Amino acid sequence: MFGKVKRTFEQKLSPQSRRVRALSIVGSLRRFLFDCSCAFRILRVALALMSITYHQLLDVVIQHLEELKARGTRIVAVSPETLAGLRQPPPRTATKGPLEPAKPPPSRAREALATPTRPTPKPSEQKARIEQALSLPLPGEPSVAVGAPALSPEAKSAAFAELRQRAMVCVKCPHLASSRKNVVFGVGDINAKLLFVGEAPGEDEDEQAEPFVGKAGQLLTRIIQTMGLSRDTVYIANILKCRPDTPGQTAGNRKPTPQEMETCIPYLHGQIDLIGPKILVALGGTAVEGLLGKTAGITKLRGHWQTYRGIPLMPTYHPAYLLRNQALSEKRRLWEDMLQVMEKLDMPITEKQRKFFLK
Ligand code: URA
Repeated sequence: MFGKVKRTFEQKLSPQSRRVRALSIVGSLRRFLFDCSCAFRILRVALALMSITYHQLLDVVIQHLEELKARGTRIVAVSPETLAGLRQPPPRTATKGPLEPAKPPPSRAREALATPTRPTPKPSEQKARIEQALSLPLPGEPSVAVGAPALSPEAKSAAFAELRQRAMVCVKCPHLASSRKNVVFGVGDINAKLLFVGEAPGEDEDEQAEPFVGKAGQLLTRIIQTMGLSRDTVYIANILKCRPDTPGQTAGNRKPTPQEMETCIPYLHGQIDLIGPKILVALGGTAVEGLLGKTAGITKLRGHWQTYRGIPLMPTYHPAYLLRNQALSEKRRLWEDMLQVMEKLDMPITEKQRKFFLK
């Protein structure tokens, strides 16, 4: 194209006209370049201004947060819309993530645990409820039960993801934060009616980032299955989200200290309040102590309903205890506790189930 223009330019115009036209083209080019450079300069100024505004906004936000912190505020509410925007839920695929609500399972026992759909509350109500459910009191601050916040499924998932994310980066116990391989937040259905609470992750759980996956966990899975349920229709969590460290030891676990449990328990409170289970099961004496502060011993407490955050709680043996003590009578005791749980949940119980672990 440029060749054609050049030929026309040379063939059709007189030398004088060619000079005038050439000067005019050079002038146009100069103006064009000048315009470009102006536009470029304007763009640079605009970008600089934007960056100043951005930094000013950032400064104001930081200043505001620092003022809130100085006044004792530990949690800042983020609107459900913002949360949803920040955490776009992944598109639904065939493979189900561990925290996704499970599809209603087919068996009657599972149907008994199906969560009825709730009307979607207004955004303003949702905001208040998320704020409520996410306000984790610091150790020593009073913690209150808020019950299951009636959030839309999206807002609930977002609030749960937010809580999980906070636990994932938690360094409130520096010794555990530095020794852990993973934060073991919890697993199961966030709409579950039944929530099992253990004490703390062990080596296997720390490795796999999932509670109750070691030998004791496999027994818990069998107990859940014997009830006619599965791990993905209940929720399983621990009081402590990090494995208690064992400095100087290469193997073995230790009990979490009361201080560690007190520090970590706000995450469990957040889980309980968001999930809103109908029943809690505390597994073992340490979990009961961490939740209820009762030190009477699991042998005395098991089988007797307690209340925690307004929710009926059944203390029972830790499955690890049943691995150590294989007596049929002890298995039956734990099973009787589970029968009580099933009854309270209005789950169907077969005659066969009622007779398990009887001679
Ligand atoms: N024991 C617990 O209390 N929790 C686990 O996750 C594993 C073992």
